[in-house]
Amino acid sequence: MSTPRPGHPCDRAPRENRPCLRQNPTLPPAQARGQTPGQTPGQARAQARGQTPGQIPGPPAQGEVWKTSPYSPHRWREECGVVGIWAPGEEHIADLCYLALFALQHRGQESAGISVTNGLHIESVKGMGLLTDAFRNGRPTLNGHAAIGHVRYSTYGGSLNCNVQPIFAYSPGGFVGLAHNGNLTNAEEIKAAMTAEGCLFQTKTDSEVILNQMARANRENVEEAIGATLRTITGSYSLVILLPDRLVGVRDPRGYRPLCLGRLPEGGYVLASESCALDAVKADFIRDIEPGEMVTIDHKGLRSTIFDKAEKLSSCVFEYIYFARPDSVLDGLSVWTSRFEMGRELAKEFKGREADIVIPVPDTGITAALGFSKESGLPYLEGLIKNRYVGRSFIMPQQISRETTVEMKLNPVRANLKDRRVVLIDDSIVRGTTSARIVSLVRRAGAKEVHMCISSPPITQSCNYGIDTSIRKELIASNMSVEEIGNVLGVDSLIYLSEKGLLKSVGDPANQRNCLECFS
Ligand code: SF4
Repeated sequence: MSTPRPGHPCDRAPRENRPCLRQNPTLPPAQARGQTPGQTPGQARAQARGQTPGQIPGPPAQGEVWKTSPYSPHRWREECGVVGIWAPGEEHIADLCYLALFALQHRGQESAGISVTNGLHIESVKGMGLLTDAFRNGRPTLNGHAAIGHVRYSTYGGSLNCNVQPIFAYSPGGFVGLAHNGNLTNAEEIKAAMTAEGCLFQTKTDSEVILNQMARANRENVEEAIGATLRTITGSYSLVILLPDRLVGVRDPRGYRPLCLGRLPEGGYVLASESCALDAVKADFIRDIEPGEMVTIDHKGLRSTIFDKAEKLSSCVFEYIYFARPDSVLDGLSVWTSRFEMGRELAKEFKGREADIVIPVPDTGITAALGFSKESGLPYLEGLIKNRYVGRSFIMPQQISRETTVEMKLNPVRANLKDRRVVLIDDSIVRGTTSARIVSLVRRAGAKEVHMCISSPPITQSCNYGIDTSIRKELIASNMSVEEIGNVLGVDSLIYLSEKGLLKSVGDPANQRNCLECFS
């Protein structure tokens, strides 16, 4: 979906901090951003704010406007959700696709698109924003037999109209449409080589590399062309590919991103990033697509081939910690159950300390807090209430401080917190700024002690496989010890779940099928 940027893959600034080049379009990009020669964009921004590298960002500079949620900038973001539907005879295939995408909205909120085919034509409707915005003027009306859909959150390639998926192209064999969840780690090299040969790209995404490579694979058999293409790319990808007469689903050999298969009540098939999307269209879950597997669905039925095999599987463990919906089942494991187990393991690692109550940071801390409560015997209470109407479109007035932005999202339940020794459960700490503000909120509501328990190990590395993370130096755990982080957050104690506890929670004690790279 997104294209690796030049330079070190970890050198990614959070989107909300990326300056707009349109501020001064007459200057070269670096100068327009206020960079001096040899300075990175991040260094330029830090300098403009009077920060030194590694320092936790403070309030916005005068005149700076946060055009994002007050909460989400400090969270990691999933980059996409994909859906593919094969349903000959289904009159409302675009609506089915829309419903499935709606269940995956948490995986991407910047843009959405649906493409439908009847074999002769392909009709696409795409737009920016949430599904409700992207399809404000209607969905595809073509009465077709197959469709693919996509919700996107961009890291790079940018949040531009041209990058909205599904993308498609026309070849002598007919059209081909594609939707991608993941991140190709060698797309930049392939793109450079293809550009040197005169190849043009219509988007800034890495996903288009796959389409172009397929066209150049020069095989008569489509599956062979796809297989040959996939063997040239590296990184993470779960794909749905739409051709006039077939729908293809692919998962990369290491299985970074999820993809599952379901059966519609009337007999069609659904491919989706998470099983919650199958539930949304009343499809029965059949199975997960295996890492390195390609399934082809056409009028003859469903065929499966293994196009590549990896020695070590690397399913993203953050899907279980934070990204996926708790009602989804990924690779045979309930996300809810794994989060509950993370809470139980945390409680075991908390043993020896005393507290009165357990409260979650809503929403993603809730299930782990329930597990913690069950294991420790401490009562589970709601201590923070989330305002569900503060979304990504929220624009904070310039004069309001960043502390207030967190309070717009979360408000304490004083009756539950006052004079209590509180265990506060959250899924992760990225830069530490939001966590510090939440702790401060809980303290100001009267908590006597705050013990912060995190249901993941310290995040010390950026992700190269499709998750928008802070750059490494902005990750608080890459710069500080756990004790130092605890001091910055202002907690009485700080406990991170150990890698051993995490792997136990996801049923992989020997670490044979999960990626833990961001903790190493
Ligand atoms: S590096 Fe972290 S976020 Fe990225 S795929 Fe691996 S576990 Fe997931």
